[in-house]
Amino acid sequence: MNIEKEKRAIEYLRAFEPKTEPYYLCYSGGKDSDVIRILASLAGVKHDIVHNLTTVDAPETVYYVRSIPGVRIDRPEKSMWQLIVEKGIPPTRIARYCCASQKERGGSGRVKITGVRKFESVSRAANSGLVQIIGKPVTVEKAAKAQEVEYEKTPKGGILLNNDNDASRRFVEHCYRTTSTMVNPIVDWTNGEVWEFLRYYGCRSNPLYYEGFERVGCVGCPLGGSCSMRREFNRWLKFKALYIHAFDRMIERRRERGLPTVWNSGEECFAWWIGDDPDQLSIDYDEEWYRQ
Ligand code: SF4
Repeated sequence: MNIEKEKRAIEYLRAFEPKTEPYYLCYSGGKDSDVIRILASLAGVKHDIVHNLTTVDAPETVYYVRSIPGVRIDRPEKSMWQLIVEKGIPPTRIARYCCASQKERGGSGRVKITGVRKFESVSRAANSGLVQIIGKPVTVEKAAKAQEVEYEKTPKGGILLNNDNDASRRFVEHCYRTTSTMVNPIVDWTNGEVWEFLRYYGCRSNPLYYEGFERVGCVGCPLGGSCSMRREFNRWLKFKALYIHAFDRMIERRRERGLPTVWNSGEECFAWWIGDDPDQLSIDYDEEWYRQ
């Protein structure tokens, strides 16, 4: 096990602990979030463990999350099925509108602990640091400069701090109420390091990993790609039926609004959606409506 990385992660968590309230620990029920849950407890920092249901959660993940003591489970305002009908298109890698409202909601004005790791994706590598701060870009940068904090800008807006020195700590303390502030203590951990840590602390994590699943959250997440979607819908047939039903209602709603549609039925839309490259098809949708 990488003892140095473990020690460092514990130090980071202690360094950025908010003075006035507990951390908001984003717990997905996956292995990375198990690591941060254990680290927060080792660090002895105050934290609320929160799991956001998305309504398309793998049942095994829901049971696993329920088995962890002290987890608060929050429900979204709308189900994924309602969201699909409202947005008028299925969620895709490009139009991943569901993440913001289903998975990443909550914890506003709190310092969050996340299990984000750079090794997971190229986009995460570019947007991840020890601390990530997203707020009004000009204001945040101005404040960082005024407090002489070393920072990097991310391609998607926001700034990254990669030190836990006094300036960074003061800065986080100073501005977290007005920004979205995330502490990512395992940002540079590899997959192997994650599993070694969990084994050492006797955590087997989500049972779906032992069936070969790499993603254990939403069933049919488009971010997993075609193969993973097919595999998941073969395993959880009820979700396939629910998606087809939602696509049927989505098509009906598009017609009611006078929008063109390339699909004649939910089944057809589903077949396209889990096809090889759904993002290649351009969908003529009403921008304004989509942004609602
Ligand atoms: S389905 Fe995928 S993109 Fe949508 S909320 Fe779940 S993880 Fe995010």
